Order: sequence, then structure tokens, then C-alpha cells
Amino acid sequence: MWAKLKTIFHKVRFFRSLRIRLLCIIMLVGIAPCVLVCSGIMQSYESRAVRLRTNAVQTQLKILANHLITYNYLQDNSSEVIGAELAMLSNLYDGRVLIIGGNFKVVKDTYDISQGKTIISEEVIRSFGGESLSNYDKVHGYIEMTIPITETVKVMTESGEAEESVVRGVMLTSISTDSIISTMDSLNQRALILEALTIVVIISIAIVLSDILTRPFARVTQAINTVKAGYSNEKISVPDYLETEHIVDAFNQLLGRMKMLDDSRQEFVANVSHELKTPLASMKVLADSLLTQLDAPVEMYREFMEDITMEIDRENQIITDLLALVRMDKKVSDLNISTVNMNDLTELVLKRLRPIARKKNVEVIFESIRPVTAEVDEVKMTLIISNLVENAIKYNKEHGSVKVVLDADHQMFSLEVSDTGIGIPEDSLEHIYERFYRVDKSHSKEVGGTGLGLAITRSAVLMHRGSITVKSLEDEGSTFIVKIPLNYIGTVKAV
Ligand code: ADP
Repeated sequence: MWAKLKTIFHKVRFFRSLRIRLLCIIMLVGIAPCVLVCSGIMQSYESRAVRLRTNAVQTQLKILANHLITYNYLQDNSSEVIGAELAMLSNLYDGRVLIIGGNFKVVKDTYDISQGKTIISEEVIRSFGGESLSNYDKVHGYIEMTIPITETVKVMTESGEAEESVVRGVMLTSISTDSIISTMDSLNQRALILEALTIVVIISIAIVLSDILTRPFARVTQAINTVKAGYSNEKISVPDYLETEHIVDAFNQLLGRMKMLDDSRQEFVANVSHELKTPLASMKVLADSLLTQLDAPVEMYREFMEDITMEIDRENQIITDLLALVRMDKKVSDLNISTVNMNDLTELVLKRLRPIARKKNVEVIFESIRPVTAEVDEVKMTLIISNLVENAIKYNKEHGSVKVVLDADHQMFSLEVSDTGIGIPEDSLEHIYERFYRVDKSHSKEVGGTGLGLAITRSAVLMHRGSITVKSLEDEGSTFIVKIPLNYIGTVKAV
């Protein structure tokens, strides 16, 4: 039942508003007690009025019962004094009095209807046993009372003379409660007016309060909209509630991150343009110098054309790397995950790179601690291994070595690529994953790097929810350690 009500509340857009909910709660808390108190007061008034009326009539009836015995009314109902008393009583309380004698015969009925008839009811019988009874019939609007008419007689007992009450008859009375009901009606009317007034006041308070209480949230939306519309880029502040402060803090952090992304995008575009323009500028210089020298020898043409081809290769390499990087920025769901034998894959990549290493007289060693199979994207994994090993060869010294170690525990596998190369200066370590960052820009032409390799590698590692760390000492060498979960975890976008 509660769950059903909850889903209805969630489905109806109106009830999903915090303001409407607050309005309902304030109204409920204000109106319900007011209505309850009013109806409680009315009920207690009614029961008190009925009790007082019953007590008053019962007292009168008891006095009358004594008179009945004194005037011997049960045997002879001709007494005018009693007749007058009875008439007065029934007039006063707008009721009917029946006097029933010892044989259940009605001696007197103030309505003159049941005189001489026999009345045997449960109440009458109980009153003959000495009980005084009263019963309030709310529906028909009367109180019915039965009281015994008792006579005190002297009796002889073993211990001497004693007094005893003997029930001679019963007085059955019903009195109207019309006066109580009419008083209640007028009270009810006043209570209703009061209730209506209170409800109007509470609704007004609820509307104003719910508006005031939800205003900070409207301010948050307004502030966010100002930023969204582009009118401002400043941090927003709505410190009214802790809750709004939390929302605003989260939004400001998001804004900061967006600004950072925007800055890095701008920097990236500037870097790309610069990197792509550099080979073009070289080619232009080479071509121009050939064009200006009208009788340039063939050897010079050949030499310059070789240089131009090199620049074209470089431009090509930059574009290939850029495309690889852009592909990495796509969704993680674009990963093509399969179960890959990492030992075989590493062997394959190293086999491809060994000829390049040989040219530089660098030895490549592979140490496989245990067989490793993992759920990875094979193409991206190849990229990770070849980028790291290529760098280890590129930035090595003559007759140096590169060592690749593959190991695993029960959760992750690790790929360690260490070299005996030139190492990375300490202050460059935190920048090497940045796009287009190169430690030694002046030699990059000879070594042939684009500065994108490690950025691509890091993206590929993060896509697998892994980590990449580096330890390096200048002139001694560097060690890159990649750790990747054996089982693919997925779903989070690569950074
Ligand atoms: P590049 O294409 O220039 O190699 P990377 O992104 O792969 O670009 O590397 C960034 C820079 O980090 C390189 O220019 C180089 O200076 C440095 N670097 C990377 N790997 C090594 C290594 N194994 N030893 C020394 N320096 C390295």
C-alpha cells in the first residue's frame, strides 16, 4: 500500500516538486491537529452535558420516588400533588415518565398512553433488583433512565429490629436531548467557522513558507543557468543551506574541470598546428632554396629531396599518432576485449622490434615469470608494449639493453620495461605523458619522436582500468611498469 502510494507520488510530476511536498507537510501538520482538537472538544462537551443532565434528572426522580411512597401513589394514583410534580418534571425536561407498580403494571404514564399496560423489559427487571440505570440514545436523541421506587421498612431479625429497603415499583423515564443537540449544533457551526479560518491561515503560511524554504534551490538553478547561458564563467555561491552549498561546490568543481579541459583542448590544438607546421616549414625552405638556385646540381636535388621525404614521413607519423590518440579518446565500450595470451603477444611485438634494436646495438631480453592470459584489447595492448619498448630502444645507449618482464598475481598482470638508456630528468617525469612533450626537443629530429607515444600508451592503459608508473635515473636508465587487471572491469570512460 505504502509502496504503491510512493510510486504514484513519483509518477505524478506535481508531487515530485519539493515545494509541493513541503506545502502538503506544513498543511497536514497545521490542519490535522486543529481538526482533531475541535472534534475532541465537541465530543467531550456532549458526554459532559449528557452526564450532567442524567445526574440532575436522577436526583429529581429519587426525590419524586420518596414522595410516591409517602403518598402511597402506587396503590392510589389520584394524588394531585404527585400529578403536578410529574407534570412539572416532564415539562421541564421535555420527557415522559412511567410509574410501574410491583406487578409490572403501569400505574401512571405522563403521556397517558400505556396506563394499565404491563411493561417487562430488561432494564425494568434490573431496576426491580435495586439498580438505577441510564442509557443515552444518540441516534434518536433521548436519555432513558430507570430507577427503583424503594420503601424503607422495619423488620425483626435475630439481633433485633432493623431497617430494610424494599423495591415497590420502578420509574421509567425518557427525556429529550434536543436542547443539548441544538447547543452542539450552534457550537459546531462556530467551530467550523473557526476551523475554516485556521485552515485559510495555515494554507497561506504553508504557501509563503514553502516558497521561502525552496528559494535557495531556485537560486542555485538560476546561477547554473547564468553559467550555462555563457553570461558568466565565475564560480557560483549559494550558501543558504548546507545542501545548496554541497550542490554548488560540486558544480564549481565541474566548472573547474571543464575549464581545465577547455584549456588543454586549446593547448592541444595549438600544439597540433605547431607540430604539423614544422615539417611543412622545413619542406618549404628546402623547396624554395632549390627553386631559387636555377642551376642547382643533381646531387643537391637528391639530397634535398631525401630531406623532404624525411619530413613527409615525419608529418605522416604525427598524423598516424594523432589518429591513434583520438581513437583512444572514444568510449571504453569501443574496446575490443578478448582473452589474450600475453606471453605470445609480447614475444610477437619484441620479434618485430628486435631488428630496430640490432641497428642500435641494443639487446632485447624477455623474461616471462609465469604464463599470463588476460581479457584485453589486443590491438591496444600491442600499442602499449611496442611504444614502451620502442622508447627503451630509442633512448638507449650503444650496446645497451632492454629488459621486458611479464608477471602476474591473482588480480593483475604487470609488464615491466627497463632500459640502460639516458634516463629522464626528475623534473620531466611528471610531464612525459603530456601530448607533444619531449625532454630534449633539439634531438627529437634525429631520434624521431612525436611526443605522443606515452600519451597514447597512458590512455590505452587507463581504458583497461590499469596504471602506469615510471622510475628513472639520468644516465642510468628508466623502468616503466604497467599493471592491468586480468579480468576486464570496464564501463568508466578513459581520461
Ligand atoms: P616520443 O615520440 O618523443 O618518444 P613519447 O611520448 O613516447 O614521445 O615520450 C615522451 C618523452 O619522454 C620522450 O621525448 C623522451 O624524452 C622521454 N622518454 C620516454 N621514454 C623514455 C625512456 N625509456 N628513456 C628516456 N626518456 C624517455
